[in-house]
Amino acid sequence: KDGKNRLEFYDNNFDGTSYKRLDLEKNMRDATSNACKEFEVYYQPIFDVGKEGNQCTGAEALVRWNSEKLGFISPGEFIPLAEYLGLINPIGQYVLEQACYNCKYWNDMGHPDYKVNVNLSVVQLLQNDIVDVVSDVVKKVGINPQNLTLEVTESLAINDMSRMKNILGEIRKLGIRIALDDFGTGYSSLNHIKEIPLDVIKVDQSFVNDIESDEYAHSFVKLVSELASVIGVKVCIEGVEHAGQYQILKDMKVRLIQGYYFSKPLPLEEFEIKYL
Ligand code: C2E
Ligand code: CA
Ligand code: CA
Ligand code: CA
Repeated sequence: KDGKNRLEFYDNNFDGTSYKRLDLEKNMRDATSNACKEFEVYYQPIFDVGKEGNQCTGAEALVRWNSEKLGFISPGEFIPLAEYLGLINPIGQYVLEQACYNCKYWNDMGHPDYKVNVNLSVVQLLQNDIVDVVSDVVKKVGINPQNLTLEVTESLAINDMSRMKNILGEIRKLGIRIALDDFGTGYSSLNHIKEIPLDVIKVDQSFVNDIESDEYAHSFVKLVSELASVIGVKVCIEGVEHAGQYQILKDMKVRLIQGYYFSKPLPLEEFEIKYL
């Protein structure tokens, strides 16, 4: 009855997730071909706590999907599927453009140093023309490339290290910065900070979660920030939720902090009301 000679079958043994996935897939394809209008970019401020008064330095762009049919879906749920389906490229490009436009506006509105961080998944990074895609957006928007940081995760570094290094090197030649996200969760983390051309290390949230109670987590964060300062790389600690964690990080001389302690990710208007 659905037309187009389509056949659908139902099997009681299906767990709900298969249906959910099919539904997600169809709706995501529709949303993507509809100019990504259902996707919205939220901004979570990142603070420099080394400065007087804890200054906002800009924000990380985090995508949200408010599907007309399925409701609100978190990125943890739809990004992996978007990667699998190849839809992460158009969605990611949309996020990149929005983030650059918005940051350019902040820069023009009296915050010339505000920076924006955009997450780039492996699939995006390994698409053939990623360097052109990024470079075109930067030129089109007119953002100062120094104010754009691309966040990549460690996991991607494993397979084709030389290709990865090449691409990231090309991107850095444009003046754009690279951050290594979720640091400490991947394989052979310490090797990567030596191998990959990068500007910022973002230590995975799991370490700060335990920083008050677990000596290993505490030492890890301390070690990484010391090592980073030796090699001239910045450190950003994300997932900071409590004053206790914040104080420990300040005592360690960590400068960049992101987390609910300061602010959750905010819709654009709210970010601008608070931080412009
Ligand atoms: P991520 O890049 O590691 O982003 C940090 C996540 O931690 C965000 O979740 C953020 O909302 C959350 N977070 C921030 N501060 C705190 C805190 O104090 N406590 C706790 N418990 N969580 C905090 P979100 O927005 O749900 O994003 C989840 C993941 O989805 C991101 O992890 C990133 O890997 C991916 N993602 C989000 N937006 C994009 C995007 O535009 N492109 C790509 N490729 N991936 C994205
Ligand atoms: Ca990130
Ligand atoms: Ca992270
Ligand atoms: Ca993550």
